[in-house]
Amino acid sequence: MADDCLFCRIVAGEIPATVVRDSAEFLAFRDIAPKAPVHVLVVPKAHHADVAALTAADAGLAQRLLAEAAEVARGEGIGGGWRLVFNTGAPAGQTVFHVHAHVLGGGRIEGM
Ligand code: 5GP
Ligand code: ZN
Repeated sequence: MADDCLFCRIVAGEIPATVVRDSAEFLAFRDIAPKAPVHVLVVPKAHHADVAALTAADAGLAQRLLAEAAEVARGEGIGGGWRLVFNTGAPAGQTVFHVHAHVLGGGRIEGM
Protein backbone atom coordinates (compact mmCIF):
# COMPACT_ATOMS: atom_id res chain seq x y z
CA MET A 1 0.00 0.00 0.00
CA ALA A 2 1.35 3.40 -0.98
CA ASP A 3 1.10 6.28 1.48
CA ASP A 4 -1.75 8.65 0.81
CA CYS A 5 -3.12 6.71 -2.16
CA LEU A 6 -6.90 6.99 -2.48
CA PHE A 7 -7.33 3.68 -4.31
CA CYS A 8 -5.01 1.79 -1.91
CA ARG A 9 -7.28 3.08 0.85
CA ILE A 10 -10.39 1.87 -1.01
CA VAL A 11 -8.71 -1.53 -1.54
CA ALA A 12 -7.93 -1.64 2.19
CA GLY A 13 -11.57 -0.86 3.03
CA GLU A 14 -10.66 2.41 4.72
CA ILE A 15 -12.80 4.42 2.30
CA PRO A 16 -16.17 3.05 1.20
CA ALA A 17 -16.93 2.25 -2.42
CA THR A 18 -19.66 0.45 -4.32
CA VAL A 19 -17.82 -2.75 -5.18
CA VAL A 20 -18.96 -4.77 -8.17
CA ARG A 21 -16.22 -7.44 -8.20
CA ASP A 22 -13.60 -8.41 -5.65
CA SER A 23 -10.94 -11.00 -6.40
CA ALA A 24 -7.48 -11.87 -5.10
CA GLU A 25 -5.74 -9.44 -7.44
CA PHE A 26 -8.36 -6.84 -8.41
CA LEU A 27 -11.12 -4.64 -7.06
CA ALA A 28 -13.80 -3.17 -9.32
CA PHE A 29 -16.02 -0.38 -8.01
CA ARG A 30 -18.34 2.29 -9.39
CA ASP A 31 -16.86 5.67 -10.27
CA ILE A 32 -18.09 8.35 -7.86
CA ALA A 33 -18.77 10.73 -10.79
CA PRO A 34 -19.94 8.48 -13.63
CA LYS A 35 -19.38 9.64 -17.21
CA ALA A 36 -21.66 6.94 -18.68
CA PRO A 37 -24.61 4.83 -17.45
CA VAL A 38 -22.04 2.15 -16.57
CA HIS A 39 -18.74 3.51 -15.27
CA VAL A 40 -16.67 1.07 -13.25
CA LEU A 41 -13.03 1.45 -12.19
CA VAL A 42 -10.93 -1.71 -12.13
CA VAL A 43 -7.75 -1.54 -10.07
CA PRO A 44 -5.06 -4.04 -9.21
CA LYS A 45 -4.81 -4.36 -5.44
CA ALA A 46 -1.06 -3.88 -5.77
CA HIS A 47 -0.05 -0.25 -6.12
CA HIS A 48 1.35 0.86 -9.50
CA ALA A 49 1.15 4.51 -10.50
CA ASP A 50 -0.17 4.08 -14.04
CA VAL A 51 -0.54 1.52 -16.81
CA ALA A 52 3.00 2.11 -18.09
CA ALA A 53 4.49 1.46 -14.66
CA LEU A 54 2.25 -1.58 -14.20
CA THR A 55 3.24 -3.09 -17.53
CA ALA A 56 6.94 -2.47 -16.85
CA ALA A 57 6.73 -4.02 -13.38
CA ASP A 58 4.37 -6.95 -14.01
CA ALA A 59 3.23 -7.61 -17.57
CA GLY A 60 1.23 -10.65 -16.47
CA LEU A 61 -0.79 -8.57 -14.03
CA ALA A 62 -1.44 -6.01 -16.78
CA GLN A 63 -2.72 -8.78 -19.04
CA ARG A 64 -4.98 -10.15 -16.32
CA LEU A 65 -6.29 -6.62 -15.67
CA LEU A 66 -7.56 -6.53 -19.26
CA ALA A 67 -9.30 -9.89 -18.76
CA GLU A 68 -10.80 -8.63 -15.49
CA ALA A 69 -12.11 -5.50 -17.23
CA ALA A 70 -13.80 -7.69 -19.85
CA GLU A 71 -15.39 -9.76 -17.07
CA VAL A 72 -16.65 -6.56 -15.42
CA ALA A 73 -18.17 -5.41 -18.73
CA ARG A 74 -19.91 -8.77 -19.18
CA GLY A 75 -21.12 -8.69 -15.58
CA GLU A 76 -22.54 -5.20 -16.09
CA GLY A 77 -24.44 -6.38 -19.18
CA ILE A 78 -22.44 -4.26 -21.62
CA GLY A 79 -20.27 -7.02 -23.09
CA GLY A 80 -21.51 -6.10 -26.57
CA GLY A 81 -20.13 -2.55 -26.47
CA TRP A 82 -17.86 -0.86 -24.02
CA ARG A 83 -14.85 1.40 -23.83
CA LEU A 84 -11.68 0.88 -21.81
CA VAL A 85 -9.71 4.00 -20.83
CA PHE A 86 -6.42 4.36 -18.99
CA ASN A 87 -5.64 8.02 -18.42
CA THR A 88 -1.87 8.04 -18.09
CA GLY A 89 -0.17 11.12 -16.67
CA ALA A 90 -1.58 14.43 -15.52
CA PRO A 91 -1.61 16.00 -19.02
CA ALA A 92 -3.98 13.20 -20.11
CA GLY A 93 -6.28 13.83 -17.16
CA GLN A 94 -5.04 11.24 -14.69
CA THR A 95 -5.94 12.46 -11.21
CA VAL A 96 -5.48 9.31 -9.11
CA PHE A 97 -2.00 7.83 -9.44
CA HIS A 98 -2.93 4.21 -8.80
CA VAL A 99 -3.53 2.52 -12.13
CA HIS A 100 -7.22 2.09 -12.94
CA ALA A 101 -9.11 0.95 -15.99
CA HIS A 102 -12.27 2.91 -16.69
CA VAL A 103 -14.93 0.52 -18.04
CA LEU A 104 -17.56 2.67 -19.73
CA GLY A 105 -20.78 1.80 -21.51
CA GLY A 106 -24.50 1.36 -21.22
CA GLY A 107 -25.40 3.94 -23.81
CA ARG A 108 -24.23 5.31 -27.08
CA ILE A 109 -20.55 6.19 -26.69
CA GLU A 110 -19.27 8.99 -28.89
CA GLY A 111 -16.54 8.15 -31.35
CA MET A 112 -13.04 9.38 -30.76
P1 5GP B 1 -8.57 9.54 -13.62
O1 5GP B 1 -8.97 10.95 -13.91
O2 5GP B 1 -7.38 9.48 -12.69
O3 5GP B 1 -8.40 8.67 -14.84
O4 5GP B 1 -9.80 8.86 -12.88
C1 5GP B 1 -10.03 8.96 -11.52
C2 5GP B 1 -11.48 8.63 -11.33
O5 5GP B 1 -11.68 8.36 -9.96
C3 5GP B 1 -12.42 9.77 -11.71
O6 5GP B 1 -13.30 9.32 -12.73
C4 5GP B 1 -13.15 10.08 -10.40
O7 5GP B 1 -14.51 10.38 -10.59
C5 5GP B 1 -12.95 8.83 -9.60
N1 5GP B 1 -12.91 9.04 -8.16
C6 5GP B 1 -12.24 10.02 -7.49
N2 5GP B 1 -12.39 9.88 -6.17
C7 5GP B 1 -13.17 8.77 -5.99
C8 5GP B 1 -13.68 8.11 -4.82
O8 5GP B 1 -13.44 8.50 -3.67
N3 5GP B 1 -14.45 7.01 -5.03
C9 5GP B 1 -14.74 6.54 -6.28
N4 5GP B 1 -15.52 5.46 -6.36
N5 5GP B 1 -14.27 7.14 -7.40
C10 5GP B 1 -13.49 8.24 -7.26
ZN1 ZN C 1 -2.35 2.82 -4.51
